[in-house]
Amino acid sequence: MTLHRHSGIGMTSDRTRARMIERLREQGIKDIGVLAAMAQVPRHLFVGEVLAPRAYEDTALPIGFGQTISHPYSVARMVEVLRNGDVLRNGDVLRNGKELQRVLEVGAGCGYQAAVLAKLAHEVYSVERIASLLGQARRTIRELRIPNIKLKHGDGNIGLAQLAPFDGIILAAAAERPPQALLAQLADGGRMVLPCGVGESQHMLLIERHGDAYDEQILEMVHFVPLLPGVA
Ligand code: SAH
Repeated sequence: MTLHRHSGIGMTSDRTRARMIERLREQGIKDIGVLAAMAQVPRHLFVGEVLAPRAYEDTALPIGFGQTISHPYSVARMVEVLRNGDVLRNGDVLRNGKELQRVLEVGAGCGYQAAVLAKLAHEVYSVERIASLLGQARRTIRELRIPNIKLKHGDGNIGLAQLAPFDGIILAAAAERPPQALLAQLADGGRMVLPCGVGESQHMLLIERHGDAYDEQILEMVHFVPLLPGVA
């Protein structure tokens, strides 16, 4: 078992990954914690061997079962917003975010974003509804020996009540509205970031909990796969 199981690309991946980080910077990602985390996670190991040479392109790629690995920019931006204390009204980020304790991700997919989060949070729990996809993610996370990610098979609409509260919740699939159960599992002072809306009309939503109040901030337009009900 080896980290460079896609032979040949291991050597060039450091260089192409550095170029990806440069691009993210140009595209406006400012949180150096996020940039550093993404500079370390070997994205090519999260896609199939055939697509590994394209892993650092500026695009979402198919990972089977009709799903995709999220666009690098989407991952960077969502995590930046999740971490940050100061997101301005226009969506700009003022300064580096703070370290997170316990994070819930909904929609593990291949596990890439969970691996990025694992560099920035003490504990990452990620729920995926497609069992076979979760199996693949488990293998990759195990090979990379990332100790602070727990992957769970289940419906992310319900969240993980037994492990709540979470100081960060991030959705990798678009909800029509913020799931009620997840709002309840957000810690006081915690932050939830999700793509919200139907079809082509989605925007990123930042929700901050203050006691019983939930402050919502609508950020840029986005495009994600839909959050589906139940498991598969
Ligand atoms: N986090 C992934 C993105 C995966 S795409 C990455 O790093 O690239 C979004 C994922 O959300 C898909 O795998 C899809 O199966 C999953 N998903 C959709 N609805 C879900 C639900 N209700 N519960 C859990 N996972 C869900």
